[in-house]
Amino acid sequence: MKIDYEKCKACGICVPFCPVGAISMVDGEVVIDQDECVECCLCQRTSKCPTGALYQEALQMPRSIRKAFSDPLGKHENTDLGHLGRGTEEVKTNDVTGLVYGVDYIAMAVEPGRPLVGARFADVEKITMAIAPYVLAYDQNNPTTKLLIDQEKGLLEPSIKNEKVLSCILEFKLAIENLDPILKVFEEVAKEVDTVFSVGVIAATDEQGRCPAEDIIRDRGITFENTSTKVNMGLGRPLFQA
Ligand code: SF4
Ligand code: SF4
Repeated sequence: MKIDYEKCKACGICVPFCPVGAISMVDGEVVIDQDECVECCLCQRTSKCPTGALYQEALQMPRSIRKAFSDPLGKHENTDLGHLGRGTEEVKTNDVTGLVYGVDYIAMAVEPGRPLVGARFADVEKITMAIAPYVLAYDQNNPTTKLLIDQEKGLLEPSIKNEKVLSCILEFKLAIENLDPILKVFEEVAKEVDTVFSVGVIAATDEQGRCPAEDIIRDRGITFENTSTKVNMGLGRPLFQA
């Protein structure tokens, strides 16, 4: 995001609207830290700048991925994906897609970054490299997957590593016996990254309604009282072969 100083009156109205604190007043002038700005357009869309001084130039790769991941109206023009947003529908359509079927495999949705914090892809790569030995397959409809140049090693496209986004999502499948080891990996890599990340586990129940993944998570000392959960009721019409 840029400021047209011919129009800007330095009123400061736009400053608190930035979710990563990239706009500040310096010596009576409003400035945008271009290294911190994630191109989300919130300042332009919501601050109602009285002079229309905020503007965004046409962005080129690699900077354009900031907007693609951070602006709800940003498009992933660097990929062949046709949708907006940072991830897929995850488990919301599991009844139809069979993303997770049976109790031998689970899926995970890991989200580095949050408003006020953001995430650089250099940190995202620390996570993808750490979990690489456990990932069976990344979701091919996910925009972060498109940035992986070597999924076996968890390597991202080098030119994007300094790019910062509000958040992105990693979606992948793994064998349930690797749930405990990968949770341990998350605990370790959390100490190495300069951001926060959430870990979502997508798991099915057996015919008795038991969820083996839940037992593994509890055995690691993670309680469900402070986590959020979604339950898919199994009401969709399956389009997959069991
Ligand atoms: S709201 Fe507009 S005029 Fe006011 S400081 Fe921000 S860019 Fe300048
Ligand atoms: S585009 Fe987003 S990150 Fe950049 S200055 Fe505006 S609100 Fe802040």
